[in-house]
Amino acid sequence: MNASKPGGPCLLPGTLVNGQPATLGVMGGGQLGRMFVHAAQRMGYFTAVLDPDPASPAGLVSHHHIQTGYLDEQGLAQLMQRSAAITTEFENVPAPALLTLGAHRPVAPAADAVAIAQDRAKEKTHFQRCGVPVAPYAVIETPGQLTAVQEELLPGILKTNRMGYDGKGQVRVKTRAELAAAWTELKNVPCVLEKMLPLKAECSVIVARGRDGAQVNFPVQLNLHREGILAVTEVHAGNLPSALASQAVAATRSIADGLGYAGVLCVEFFVLQDNTLVVNEMAPRPHNSGHYSIDACDHSQFDLQVRTLAGLPLLQPRLHSPSIMLNLLGDIWLDFNDVPPWDKVLALPGTHLHLYGKLKASKGRKMGHLNVTGRTVDEVRATALAAAKILGIEPF
Ligand code: ADP
Ligand code: MG
Repeated sequence: MNASKPGGPCLLPGTLVNGQPATLGVMGGGQLGRMFVHAAQRMGYFTAVLDPDPASPAGLVSHHHIQTGYLDEQGLAQLMQRSAAITTEFENVPAPALLTLGAHRPVAPAADAVAIAQDRAKEKTHFQRCGVPVAPYAVIETPGQLTAVQEELLPGILKTNRMGYDGKGQVRVKTRAELAAAWTELKNVPCVLEKMLPLKAECSVIVARGRDGAQVNFPVQLNLHREGILAVTEVHAGNLPSALASQAVAATRSIADGLGYAGVLCVEFFVLQDNTLVVNEMAPRPHNSGHYSIDACDHSQFDLQVRTLAGLPLLQPRLHSPSIMLNLLGDIWLDFNDVPPWDKVLALPGTHLHLYGKLKASKGRKMGHLNVTGRTVDEVRATALAAAKILGIEPF
């Protein structure tokens, strides 16, 4: 850290820090870490990734890859020795590891914000404190709380408080008997039961907030999920009614402010049939629904993650093209016997292929994404539908 600005020091790329090239560290080696590494390296930083998997997508492309567990003391010491500042790329990174790192290096996001995002009950309390409505819910940690559940929460979704992702750790229940069975199935861990809401649409907003409190936001993303996994994201003027879009942006900004957040934060929302907005959950990191920003915005969510971590100025990102992102799940590889016809897809104008370097495909595994950009929404939609058809992705 070698220059000062309001809110703390900044780490300039291409400089030496204690005799080492300025290096940004990341906890976790998945695709989000990989795209962070790409953005950091493009700007001239060196990178260090901590992930136990020798073939992790980010580890494969980083200057340094520390292959230990997330709580391994030697691994954490090595990451600190290498890195001038450290971020995370998945929300389930153990909070104690972030606390250890945070005692010695700037860490963004901070352990306390990550700890709230890791726990659905704490997360909902925070949303309510910020004045953002949540789905009706009940916390279920004891058999007494299970029997006391109000009838009006059914049908509902029982979700584990911690470690859920891509629809995992959730069971849909219609009756009290199903609820009791679901809690047993989820091994009686602390859960929340959420009322099943009539969704018209789902959307998300990504913000980047600096240590000095400066905040910028991406435009609202319209998201289509299939089987609990994000399938398609559409971003263009008019993807959502503008009043709803502004409401979602304002809510996300207040959630980030309320956390005193530093870094990139994504908040997911439900749009109900009557056009009201309800917050679903947040991710303390870049998000799958923000991948379009790599090709459709002048600064991507990963560029802004680098800037927040290094203490560099934050600029409001500008969408310069309408965009649709298709998630590429392992199912496509299985359908095409491991060789999807990328040549046919890439013959379509405005297609940008991003593969994460994962060698083994499985059903539901996120292998990559395809960003489509173009001059008009109609053109982008036609191209995205043509690509989906080639790949056997259901039309949207
Ligand atoms: P994950 O952590 O796996 O992303 P979410 O809580 O976001 O879990 O749920 C995954 C998807 O399930 C949501 O994107 C939405 O489509 C559906 N879903 C979740 N909660 C509700 C709810 N209360 N009402 C209706 N649909 C829901
Ligand atoms: Mg979700």
